[in-house]
Amino acid sequence: MEIFKADYMGFCFGVKNAVEIAKKSLDEDGSLISYGEIIHNQDEINFLKEKGLEVVYDLDKSLEKKDKKILIRSHGVPKKDIDFLNEHNIEYVDATCVRVKKIHEIVRKHSEEGYEILIIGNPNHPEVKGISGWIEGPLYCANSLEEVRKLNINRDKKYCLVCQTTFYNNIYKEIVEFFNENDYTNIVRYNTICDATKKRQDACVEIAKKVDVMLVIGGKKSSNTKKLFDLCSSYCINTFLIENYREIPYKYIDKKRKIGITAGASTPDWVIEEVIQYVRQSE
Ligand code: SF4
Repeated sequence: MEIFKADYMGFCFGVKNAVEIAKKSLDEDGSLISYGEIIHNQDEINFLKEKGLEVVYDLDKSLEKKDKKILIRSHGVPKKDIDFLNEHNIEYVDATCVRVKKIHEIVRKHSEEGYEILIIGNPNHPEVKGISGWIEGPLYCANSLEEVRKLNINRDKKYCLVCQTTFYNNIYKEIVEFFNENDYTNIVRYNTICDATKKRQDACVEIAKKVDVMLVIGGKKSSNTKKLFDLCSSYCINTFLIENYREIPYKYIDKKRKIGITAGASTPDWVIEEVIQYVRQSE
């Protein structure tokens, strides 16, 4: 058996930073409330819960626990949530990734200047909901070229386009080509896809092309992990999305095979290492 590890995989710096902030806070105070799941990885969440982390999905709930600090996760939040925390004097640590903060700043500034904002991404993703909450005026969201075509963009208006940081690079390129071919010069574009995402996507394709079995390690709710899975599946028919070593598909793993490994941006190193160890032990 040969194991091929993607050159880039696992925690991106935004997630790593959020987890480090959480650990530091838990070590100092023994408690912390994460507003939404800090990362899409149940193993890491369980580990942090043992250290005293609680999760709330509704900020009103934080009013009942005012003595505890709130953690804003790397996805960021709408402006109204920050206002709520300030108005109620609730202490918080902001672990919004700097790259997501930059998008908040772009859309805030452009909507103030009269641009209508077009977000390329999934409207139900927390990062996109957060970005939407920094926009004053009209807002559109599209997740594919088909959805962009249906928007009926008005050539007499000015638009500002940003992307969800984990959006597919190839679909973004199709959308840009569509705008170029149709002379939409009234759209200011910011390619805000994070290079951590692109590097992980390119690196997993390189591996998926040459292996018999591809293991994509990450949470089932993680959008960037799902994208890695989709990309790998187009090159390797035996691609599996697993959360941890307990889900290793052993019947596809044997000595003669080449096994590829990649992991989403919210998968901790220790979870990746456990998978590699168990795969090796199955030889
Ligand atoms: S994927 Fe990029 S933008 Fe998103 S949290 Fe990670 S480093 Fe930040």
